[in-house]
Amino acid sequence: MVAAYNPYDNVLRVVDNAARILGYQPGEYEAIKYPERELQVSIPVQMHDGSVKVFEGYRIQHSTSRGPAKGGIRYHWNVNKDEVRALAAWMTFKCAVVNIPYGGAKGGVVVDPEKLTSEELRHLTRRFTAMILPIIGPDKDIPAPDVGTNPEIMGWIMDTYSMMRGHCVPGVVTGKPVQIGGAPGRKEATGRGVVITTGNILAKHGMDIADATFAIQGMGNVGGTAARLLHERNARILGVGDVSGAVFNPDGLDITAIMAHLGEGKLLESHCAEGVRHITNGELLGLDVSVLIPAALENQINESNVGDIKTKFIVEGANGPTTVEADAQLEKMGVVVVPDILANAGGVVVSYFEWVQNIQSMSWTEADNNAKLTEIMNRSFNDVWDISHEKGVSLRTGAYLIAVKRVVEAKKNRGIWP
Ligand code: NAD
Repeated sequence: MVAAYNPYDNVLRVVDNAARILGYQPGEYEAIKYPERELQVSIPVQMHDGSVKVFEGYRIQHSTSRGPAKGGIRYHWNVNKDEVRALAAWMTFKCAVVNIPYGGAKGGVVVDPEKLTSEELRHLTRRFTAMILPIIGPDKDIPAPDVGTNPEIMGWIMDTYSMMRGHCVPGVVTGKPVQIGGAPGRKEATGRGVVITTGNILAKHGMDIADATFAIQGMGNVGGTAARLLHERNARILGVGDVSGAVFNPDGLDITAIMAHLGEGKLLESHCAEGVRHITNGELLGLDVSVLIPAALENQINESNVGDIKTKFIVEGANGPTTVEADAQLEKMGVVVVPDILANAGGVVVSYFEWVQNIQSMSWTEADNNAKLTEIMNRSFNDVWDISHEKGVSLRTGAYLIAVKRVVEAKKNRGIWP
């Protein structure tokens, strides 16, 4: 029987393995196995028909050892405490692997944002911000977008926080519209980082993006941007999927047409073009392509479907798309997996640039942000590649060897208070 999936258990198993290889005694890393602070809130919202609905929300700070907590806010009907805990912990290790001075946090609200009017969404966001206000702030914990949230919602968070503080505080949130202190390039940064990392892993195997074929699950901020940038670099993208299903063309999809279709607020199920076949998300994951980019949700590649995987490389755009069991199986199958905490770190890297600019009242150009992003993604990739080869472990284990060591050493240097 397949055990019930708990993403936080996944995190603990990967951390335990890295700590064992690093030679830490249990007491040396015990504290990083627990989130530092968890806030659960019940958010009442007056709906447009006059009724009142109460939504469940969370802000969980996994670690502030290396700096203020940092992490996105997810609006999705399937949000739950264990998921938010896992996402918060992944943020801690992601910030550590790319060596930016943050801890990790995540927030979430159990809601399908598609079912709310814009006004209801704004009321929900403002009330949620007010309820988590005691624990967020530019020196404490800085939210950002994730699944189901976007720059407009970040703008409402910044405005609510600023109104309650009585002055403008742009550094409380990243991924804001550029007109109010957002970093140019932040919206595309996660997808751009995924593409930089894809280029790096292919280059290590003597390949180029233009020679490779791709399948991408999730066509939102991360997957959609990655698809567009890969297409611009002449990659052949054979399959893409969203919540409604997937489309496939063995000769390569017209990504420009697909992005235009999605840009009108439509889903892939209604996309039609010559040579395009509709397939299931399961079939998408099993396509015989060079690179598979899961960029939707966690637990997509698991014990039940890992045997169907035919790709040579998986670059994890999503957080936690591969379970521990599937990961071990992929290693045996010879599939190279570039882990989420490295591959999708581009978003938090440019969020860091945004925050640095906000707190110094500076503004850099998009070219500055992209150049610095490329530098950090390349350096981090090489660090992970080198340690993985030195120790003879997977890239995921290599990434965690770097990240766990940085977090544990930070804790040791600070000591346990009091
Ligand atoms: P998004 O809401 O913009 O897009 C999500 C996409 O996934 C949509 O195309 C949606 O239709 C699809 N999807 C949802 N449920 C699905 C399902 N059951 N099967 C297949 N497709 C499904 O979200 P996003 O910001 O692109 O985030 C995607 C992933 O990347 C998440 O795991 C998120 O945590 C991670 N991530 C996002 C950022 C960021 O900056 N936005 C940064 C790092 C990691």
